[in-house]
Amino acid sequence: MTTNNPQTKENKEAPRSPRPAKRAPKKKVCYFCQTKTDDIDYIALVKEMEKNSEKTGKDGEKRTRFVTEKGKILPRRMSGTCVKHQRALAQAIKRARFMALLPYKAD
Ligand SMILES: [Zn+2]
Repeated sequence: MTTNNPQTKENKEAPRSPRPAKRAPKKKVCYFCQTKTDDIDYIALVKEMEKNSEKTGKDGEKRTRFVTEKGKILPRRMSGTCVKHQRALAQAIKRARFMALLPYKAD
């Protein structure tokens, strides 16, 4: 008879206790609120992103502020953009894509 019960060991070490405290996310401030941008011009946005992409992250990969390296629009919870500006930003990014200033998909 084998004591093949994976739960026993874990239960000894971690009895049913409340989860460890969640790490408080770093408070981010909406970039457009900071710069007092009311409506986001897609040309200005692309220029801003080009300026920003010259900086490289710790992995040496290009860092863009509002889209992932694959070209997806960064969610609000990651970029810290407020609801109002996230909507305007999404629209501006889509316009920039249509004008071939930003990729729909990058590999
Ligand atoms: Zn905002």
